[in-house]
Amino acid sequence: MGAQRHPSTVWLRVSHSKLDDYRACPLRGHLNWGVPKPQVQQPETVFGSAMHYMFRLFMKPHPRTKRYPYGELELFKNVWKGFWWRAVKGKHGFESRTAPPAKVAWEDDAHPGRLFGAGLNVLEEFFNQHLKLRTERPHLLERRFSVSFGDIILSGIIDRIDLEPDGATVIDYKPRYDRLSLDLGSQLTFYQIGYNQLRKRIKGRPPLKRLRIYQYWTGEWLEAPLRSESDIGMIFRSSAELSWYLRGIYGDQQLDERILAQIHQFNVGHLVVGDLPPKLPRGKHCQYCPHLHHGCAAWVAGQPPPARQQFQEYWDQNRAATMPTQLPLLQHSVVAAAVNAYRTSLLDPEHIQIDLFPESTPSA
Ligand code: SF4
Repeated sequence: MGAQRHPSTVWLRVSHSKLDDYRACPLRGHLNWGVPKPQVQQPETVFGSAMHYMFRLFMKPHPRTKRYPYGELELFKNVWKGFWWRAVKGKHGFESRTAPPAKVAWEDDAHPGRLFGAGLNVLEEFFNQHLKLRTERPHLLERRFSVSFGDIILSGIIDRIDLEPDGATVIDYKPRYDRLSLDLGSQLTFYQIGYNQLRKRIKGRPPLKRLRIYQYWTGEWLEAPLRSESDIGMIFRSSAELSWYLRGIYGDQQLDERILAQIHQFNVGHLVVGDLPPKLPRGKHCQYCPHLHHGCAAWVAGQPPPARQQFQEYWDQNRAATMPTQLPLLQHSVVAAAVNAYRTSLLDPEHIQIDLFPESTPSA
């Protein structure tokens, strides 16, 4: 997974899930993003991936004829049956028919069958709600965005954007969602930032009208408030702090005092020891963590080397697999300089001067 990337992407590219992982538990962030390896997946995770795939399939017209597939419920359910069981048998992954197979920590032998049945109910409700809507309302599916901020990039993928005469609705599919995440969660704030960039490429540049969650376990629509300027500013601020925190852990340069003094949302004590510990005691934040029985248990038992050393060894292994002629380009300073030059050439003049930590920035 990490072989094609440069190590600096770990701190130069920030998504809502990376930010949330490192904030919720530094070790989980490290294992998911610093030294990513294929993990045994949680059943809820693969079910969610499969649902996203089915929703996309249903909402996407044929590229040439523009006709929508699966106009009958039974047909749609049959597609689900084939897709789910082939993924369970390891013929392909749960994200799509071309994704690599995944290992899953099923509760018991009957667990895939229970989720298959649950999927039938979810898809029937989705079908009933979207059969007419998909032809009546223009929409964009799985739109990727990358927003430059200083030398970092905020990125993500928006599940769906519905376009109506008076504006656009950003939609995310979730199994369930709580009120706190609706009101304050970073994911929808990232999407609002992302939409404001994407809209430049949409005809008429429609303004963002609302943020919505389709909660697929119940078929309910949940409304989230549009984010304020200060919510958006806080995401930029948090992303910048995360980026510097990760440079301090993984990077090849020591952070100076001015930067350290500006990091409030992460524990700068971790930079001194070069390690990222789990957030103990374990609790709700561990609910879907795939590292509970392996990476986390090993850390508690004192087995693995510190995160900084793991990171270096992990990326050294990737470097060893790289063609010799490419090696000079893997120097962080060379790549970062090139990335900066490229981004600067793309930015508007007023954005070039962005300081990640301006003197006037209030403390978080
Ligand atoms: S199980 Fe909990 S404490 Fe351990 S790595 Fe995962 S989220 Fe962190």
